[in-house]
This record gives sequence, structure tokens and C-alpha cells, in this order.
Amino acid sequence: MTLSRVVVVGASAAGLTAAETLRREGFAGELTVIGDEHRLPYDRPPLSKQVLSGNWEPERVALRRREALDALGARWLLGRRAMALDVAARTVTLADGDAAPYDGLVIATGVTARRLPYGHRLRGVHVLRGLDEALALRAALGDGPSLVIVGAGFLGAEVAAVARGLGCRVTLVDPLPAPMVRQLGSAVAERVAELHRANGVDLRCGTSVAGLTERDGAVTGVRLGDGTHLPADLVLVAIGSVPAVDWLRDSGLPLGDGVLCDEFCSVAPGIVAAGDVASWTHPAYGRMRVEHRMNATEQGVAAARTLLGERVPFAPVPYFWTDQYDVKIQAYGRTGQDAGFRVVTGSSDQGPFAGVYGDGERITGAVTWNLPRAARELRPLVAQRAPWPAPVA
Ligand SMILES: Cc1cc2nc3c(=O)[nH]c(=O)nc-3n(C[C@H](O)[C@H](O)[C@H](O)COP(=O)(O)OP(=O)(O)OC[C@H]3O[C@@H](n4cnc5c(N)ncnc54)[C@H](O)[C@@H]3O)c2cc1C
Repeated sequence: MTLSRVVVVGASAAGLTAAETLRREGFAGELTVIGDEHRLPYDRPPLSKQVLSGNWEPERVALRRREALDALGARWLLGRRAMALDVAARTVTLADGDAAPYDGLVIATGVTARRLPYGHRLRGVHVLRGLDEALALRAALGDGPSLVIVGAGFLGAEVAAVARGLGCRVTLVDPLPAPMVRQLGSAVAERVAELHRANGVDLRCGTSVAGLTERDGAVTGVRLGDGTHLPADLVLVAIGSVPAVDWLRDSGLPLGDGVLCDEFCSVAPGIVAAGDVASWTHPAYGRMRVEHRMNATEQGVAAARTLLGERVPFAPVPYFWTDQYDVKIQAYGRTGQDAGFRVVTGSSDQGPFAGVYGDGERITGAVTWNLPRAARELRPLVAQRAPWPAPVA
């Protein structure tokens, strides 16, 4: 079918890339981009790094200049929330009752911050997903308060690093044994733990949070499962995220951990999904949903091409990076504690190093610690599922 009207829901990395790809590949019809934030598309990784530290003015996070967005010839419905999708009528309904009809739809609504079942109304309790939240947290960190971070995934760990740099007292709490252990496996996560301890973070791993304490509507601390009370002026809840699929609940589209797509990022005829919200079948790794920046761009391209009629499976080498203190960690492929791990350059105990993950026969993932060049060299080995390397002598 020739497309004449495409609607993109989600005006961020994946949605913008999908819109640009559609135009680049010749789609000349009506293009509408719907986003519930009032801002033009901006980048999220700097929010927990350069924006939070104050090193960047907020304007720098813009993904494109205004002229580049104008050149797309799209209708931007910003500050407008998609509330429902009628698949049979091919219409997206907005919160204000307006309807956006389509014959091609890109779902790129990302994720929202997961919250604790309590405490979020208290002053001093923050989450971090968007620019406004980053600016609010930045302002609150200005007085060098005591900060308790609930959740030591990459977001919690990055904020801990920035807050230490700003002179805050920081406690990082997580029920798992080490920061980022899910993403990096125990050997590398232990090194991350040491990095934070060395920088003065009070690390409480293997510890659950039982509640928040308050006075006059403001948070005063965090109560741990073992009864300990951690006094705090500020609390950041960084306990992961939830795919933004509420607006699709009654659509009949397949939902699970996100919007369920096939290997082409196709959800249903004329409907594709991309970015953090999309769970697709990777030809090599099986079903996955990736919450990382590079994937949002790559999948935005792939999903747009599928909408235009291409049939190429989306088979990226997943990639993410994180910056903490003076350390850049980069990871490709499948990493994490369930896989085997072997250091191939340096030592995971000190200094820069590189390591691979796998099943003892094939390499399925790689990580580097302040070794960007090694990261580039290891990427093809992950892509090819190269044979498991011999131990370093
Ligand atoms: C603080 C922070 C730091 C990060 N750092 C890194 C990093 O160092 N490395 C890395 O690889 N990744 C990082 N990421 C992850 C990366 O930013 C995401 O993977 C990327 O933003 C995903 O893009 P997306 O377009 O899929 O989703 P999003 O960026 O989440 O965009 C989805 C958009 O859709 C909007 N939306 C949702 N529901 C609706 C609706 N119903 N109607 C209209 N609009 C809607 C949302 O408001 C949002 O604007 C970070 C993320 C955050 C929050």
C-alpha cells in the first residue's frame, strides 16, 4: 500500500529518527509527530551527566536545530498526549479529543520512570527522565544536600557520581549485590562498586528500602528493610522504567514488556514501533527491549523502512555507554551476570580493561573500561559471535 499519511507518536530520539528516515527515503505525504512534552526533541543521556553537573546549558540537549525540524515538513503536535488508538479506524485520539488519522503509524513513546508505591508527593523526592526533572534535581543539588539514591542501575550510579562532584553526601541503595550488576555482571559491577566507594559514596547494596520518612510534607530520610534510617534532604528514586503503553491498552495491539513487534519492528499492518518502548525479536538474541540511546536511533531507521515496505530484520549489536567520574564504560551485545565473563586486556581490578561475555564457546558481548579503541575492536567480534578467547597470559 502506498502511504499518504504517517503519524509518529513520541517526539524524541526514536520518533524523530523515524520521521527523518521517512522523508529521506522518499515519503512525501502528510507527516504528523505527536509528543506530550512541550519541548522540541532533545537528548536524554546528558541529563544525568552534563546538565546535572551544570556543565551544559539546557539548550545544548536539543537534538536538531529548529530549521532542520522545519525542513522535515512535519506537523508537530507538541504538548499533546495520545490517549487511544483505534486500529480498525486507523486513528490516534489525543487527550483533547482531536483525532489524527493515519495509514502508517510509528509508536515511539519510550518509557516512564518507575515509582515507589509511596512518597512521591513529598518535597525532595525526585525521579529523572525528562529535562524538567533534570533541572529540578540540579537546582536541588545546588545546596550540597545529603542525597539518598534508591536504585543503583546506570541512572542511579551516574547521578551519584555527579552529586559527589557537586559536594553532596551520597548514599546509594540497591537490593542487588553491586551497582549495575544486571547490565554488567558481577566482576565489572564489583569494580563499579569500588569506584563509588573510592569517591566517597556510602554504598548500601543487598539492601531493600522499606519506606520514606517525612516532616511537614518534606522527605527527611529513607527507612531500610533492616530498620536502619538514612537521613536525607533529597531522595532520587531510580528504580528503572515502565514502557509507555497506557494509551494502547484498549487497542488490541500485542503488549507485554512494551509493544510486541516481529523482527522487522512491525506490530500490525501499517504499524511499527521503535526505541525504548519496542520489544522485538532479534534474529540472534531472541526477544528483547533495549533502553539505550543508540538503539533508539537505529530502530527508528529500521521501523520507518519497514513502514515503507522494506523487509530487513532489525539485527543490531546492542550498545550502551555510561560515564561515571572519570570512567567511561562501553558495552556491546549481551552482557550481564548470567553470561560467562573473561578479561581480554588489562585487569578488572585496576586501570583500564576490556572483557568479553559469552557461553564459553562464543563471544556474545563485550565491555570496556576507559578503552574506547578496544570497544571499537571488540564490536565486530560480538557481531560475528567470534570463538571464545584463550585466557590472558
Ligand atoms: C537521564 C537519562 C540518561 C541516559 N543515559 C544514557 C546513556 O548514558 N547511554 C545510553 O545508551 N542511554 C542512555 N539513556 C537512555 C536513552 O536516553 C533512551 O534509550 C532514549 O531516550 C530512548 O528514546 P525513545 O525515543 O525510544 O524514548 P524517549 O526518549 O523516552 O521518548 C519518548 C517520548 O514519547 C513521549 N510520550 C510518551 N507517551 C506519550 C503519549 N501517550 N503521547 C505523546 N507522547 C508520548 C514521551 O514524553 C517522550 O517525549 C538515558 C536516559 C535517561 C532518562
